[in-house]
Amino acid sequence: MTEGSTESARTVLVVEDEPTINRAVTDRLRAEGFRAVQAHDGPAAVAAFEEHHPDLVVLDVMLPGFDGLEVCRRIQAVRPVPVLMLTARDEETDLLVGLGVGADDYMTKPFSMREVVARVRALLRRVDRAEALAASGGPTHLDAAGLVIDVRTRRVSVGGEVVHLTPLEFDLLCALATEPGTVRTREVLMREVWGWGDASGTRTLDSHVKALRAKIGADRVRTVHGVGYALEVGP
Ligand code: CA
Repeated sequence: MTEGSTESARTVLVVEDEPTINRAVTDRLRAEGFRAVQAHDGPAAVAAFEEHHPDLVVLDVMLPGFDGLEVCRRIQAVRPVPVLMLTARDEETDLLVGLGVGADDYMTKPFSMREVVARVRALLRRVDRAEALAASGGPTHLDAAGLVIDVRTRRVSVGGEVVHLTPLEFDLLCALATEPGTVRTREVLMREVWGWGDASGTRTLDSHVKALRAKIGADRVRTVHGVGYALEVGP
């Protein structure tokens, strides 16, 4: 089964120092039609990024040389690229999202190869959608009680002050802003922002909502326990 030639031709850089995991991920991606290249430490990851121009990077956090956070910083400084970060624990995901590392999605070990492929595909689709939206002639401005979102330039300001969001935080904010004041369920948000919506993504969603609140103001995103989140449009 293929999902279109554009996607199959894409290059994924797999950065992981454990040889068995690196090999398993790489083999599976190749079997699914991707071009996959490997790196086993921080410096090699940055070099491979510059040499192969990958469309997406699967990135382990703990690496020899320098760690995945530093790799993420260095490659994102060269060119924005979607990053799927591999973490050892759920708590580590919270920490990294809070730090604003700039990864787009997080997957906690151990994971299945099927899950890696699903996440890679979803991330690539998300990037495509964001590009299409930016290029479309659709609505470009959303204004909700001092929170201004410019879809085309992907800029956000609160009370006139520019707020710097990661690409993923921006997409999450747009998904909430689709229906301001209305509860958007976890499943819908997961599907719209990450392209998939099973229970394993709950932690990722909650972590990113937390990070978004820290930037735009905690009271702008209301939690509806057990259901989802709503963007508050003010009194
Ligand atoms: Ca490692």
